[in-house]
Amino acid sequence: MASLQDNYGRQFYYLRLSITDMCNFYCGYCLPDGYQKKERDFLSMDEIRRLVMAFVELGVQKIRLTGGEPTIRKDFCAIAKTLSQISGVKKLALTTNGYHLYKNILEYKDAGIDNITVSIDSLIPEKFHNITQHNCLEDILAGINSAQQLNFNAVKINAVLLNHINTDEIDSFVEFTRNQNISMRFIELMQTGSNIDYFRQHHISSDCVREKLHSQGWQIVEREIDAGPAVEYQHPDYLGKIGIIAPYGKGFCATCNRLRVTAKGELCLCLFDSVGYSLRHLLQSDQQQSELIEFIISKLPYKHETHYLLQGNPGMNHNFAAIGG
Ligand code: SAM
Ligand code: SF4
Repeated sequence: MASLQDNYGRQFYYLRLSITDMCNFYCGYCLPDGYQKKERDFLSMDEIRRLVMAFVELGVQKIRLTGGEPTIRKDFCAIAKTLSQISGVKKLALTTNGYHLYKNILEYKDAGIDNITVSIDSLIPEKFHNITQHNCLEDILAGINSAQQLNFNAVKINAVLLNHINTDEIDSFVEFTRNQNISMRFIELMQTGSNIDYFRQHHISSDCVREKLHSQGWQIVEREIDAGPAVEYQHPDYLGKIGIIAPYGKGFCATCNRLRVTAKGELCLCLFDSVGYSLRHLLQSDQQQSELIEFIISKLPYKHETHYLLQGNPGMNHNFAAIGG
């Protein structure tokens, strides 16, 4: 079987697939004015199926559906069901803002999703409202609770570290994992083409979390081959785990095992690249699979060893809703 390996010996087992740019939230660092564009020619279910079959043929085992907000697509569960039935898809994950979680959690489970990550940047309802412009923290927490009862393989929470906004809640987020089998991820705020002022005001290094965890006796967990970008920690007194995603940290790119495809079918070798390679012309019939596979393999040598974030260059990434954060 062909495999996906780049010039630096990195193997790619994990595809993050955006299925829509659209979102119903207004997170200050991502889409402060909400989704604006009108064109909605996102990949169809058949295009998505062909795409995933090609990546699986190349050794990808884990697919994450993301966006924008993936669950606002009317055919979201149908897409998930189709992908979960492709042999070779070992894990089907979802990243969601959780807006539809409580209502639809059973349908997600039936569609074959086994790993759910929900973004919550504050556990205080008023603050949550200020960040997202939505007043639904309680419902989202109820959705997470239901996900735990339904025995998903993994339930995770993403919180972007926002200086002067939620850094006073780090202890509460950590406490959240004490009696719950949940993985709490702290993500460093990343600069995009559209959040430069916000980034300057609110970026803070994740060292503040790392130092806290070390001083409290948390230990690093060994990585799986299709693990995400987080360095994970565990502690004997806590049922859950804590992860830190620090893209500005040393060595972040060395363990990169993931590729991305945008909602319009562009292959992105890195979240912060300045080019994407359209795959769409090769997604139009089942007969194009070998051509599609060849094309994907041919682009791997263009993957850079690292991003240029430290040089202040976020690439073509206007916001993460467009590329699937
Ligand atoms: N709408 C879904 C959600 O919010 O979970 C999925 C898409 S969202 C782009 C995926 C993740 O990227 C979320 O956890 C979000 O908080 C994170 N994100 C978005 N913009 C970011 C930024 N500039 N820096 C760090 N994380 C960001
Ligand atoms: Fe929407 Fe997710 Fe971006 Fe928030 S982070 S605006 S929920 S895409």
